[in-house]
Amino acid sequence: MVDNLLGLLEIDMVKNYITRVGGDLAVDVMKIMLEAGEPVTDEYIAGLLGVKVTVVRTVLNRLHFWGIVDYHREKDPDTGWYTYTWFIRKGRLKEALIEDIEEQRREVSQKLDELSSYMFFSCPEGHERVVFEVAVEYNFQCPICGKPLVEVNVEEEKEELRKRLSQIANIRSLLKDV
Ligand SMILES: [Zn+2]
Repeated sequence: MVDNLLGLLEIDMVKNYITRVGGDLAVDVMKIMLEAGEPVTDEYIAGLLGVKVTVVRTVLNRLHFWGIVDYHREKDPDTGWYTYTWFIRKGRLKEALIEDIEEQRREVSQKLDELSSYMFFSCPEGHERVVFEVAVEYNFQCPICGKPLVEVNVEEEKEELRKRLSQIANIRSLLKDV
């Protein structure tokens, strides 16, 4: 289980999501928490990362806002101080990743549908990129610079999007085993 989650944290789309919700250090913070295999303090994480504790706290608070991490609070009977130990809520992390990936899947397949259903024309200077119907209205001339609009070859873009869809399918099957 832990290995799978660590593996997931190596995947760009997963990293992007974690970084989006938790900030730049969020992936590293989560790796340390997973590798520790037990709840850890913010000082422990900060020590391994070589950053200030406040920086780690900010990341943890952001992840906590999304429900991805949580903490235990214990009072030291001698000093009266509280110690917070943090852990990852794996079920919630999985749910959040599934939601995010599903959203990306929808976006990518919508884009792929568009590219497959329409012809696109663009200005060689990059001013405009429009569908055939609009290009007709423009008389196949860029409305900004007047240069002739040329048909765009979208095969490479489609190939990119197909790759992303297969990555998404991969991540989804990995998530099933987490
Ligand atoms: Zn132009």
